[in-house]
Amino acid sequence: MRPEHIDIHGHLNSSDFPNDLEEVIRRANENNIIVLNVGTNYGQSKEVVDLAQKYENLYAVVGSHPIDSVDEKFDETKYAELLSRPKVVGVGECGLDFFRLEGEVEKIKERQESVFRKQVELAIRFDKPLMIHCRDAYEDVLRILGEYKKTAGQTLRGNIHFFAGTKADAQKFLDLGFTMSFTGVITFAPQYEELVKFVPTDKIHAETDCPYVAPAPHRGEKNEPSFVVEVVKKMAEIKGLSVETLSAQLVENAQKMFRLPF
Ligand SMILES: [Zn+2]
Repeated sequence: MRPEHIDIHGHLNSSDFPNDLEEVIRRANENNIIVLNVGTNYGQSKEVVDLAQKYENLYAVVGSHPIDSVDEKFDETKYAELLSRPKVVGVGECGLDFFRLEGEVEKIKERQESVFRKQVELAIRFDKPLMIHCRDAYEDVLRILGEYKKTAGQTLRGNIHFFAGTKADAQKFLDLGFTMSFTGVITFAPQYEELVKFVPTDKIHAETDCPYVAPAPHRGEKNEPSFVVEVVKKMAEIKGLSVETLSAQLVENAQKMFRLPF
């Protein structure tokens, strides 16, 4: 059945939802919401793949986060195995995060770039979109993607999650065939309005990034996929569209980028 909304980036796993995982997934299902459940390290990636097997309204994205997986030695073979499982629709969240780095900064940056490159290569090899995490590193992510674009062409694609760059950055990502997603932050931080307006309606997605940053009017609560409707409402308001029109477009956008089968 065609969903009402797609939360294209959430973290539903037993460590973030120790007591209420089943309930949160059921609530999303009752609200006709599909969730792209995103891993941030190998253990979580395995879990999101298992959950996608168990719950019809969940899909899995597997990868290694630049900050949340610093102790992990990236093992391509293990991730490649996960990527061949059913309902695994993307690689991530991966990318670069240079926000407040401390210690051996150059070494940390090198490690992040090397792990990111391996995931870009996996995404190309498996013909999957990337789910990119980028913080204070837009130039570097653009440089790396630009390099791969030359040989990979349209196979290289994906989404910049929790986009917080400039309009110029946004345009460069669009030129590379990437989309951008926004979280509940847009419901209470007016500085996102211009960006949301700028990103074309057929290149934008809504996400919760749950359990973090619940949208208004749920601020302070633990975030969950059902709240994605608040992100969609705010996006519709900013873009001057009805919620129905925009949500239909958002479902189509996610379906197109992640090749969702409905
Ligand atoms: Zn995330």
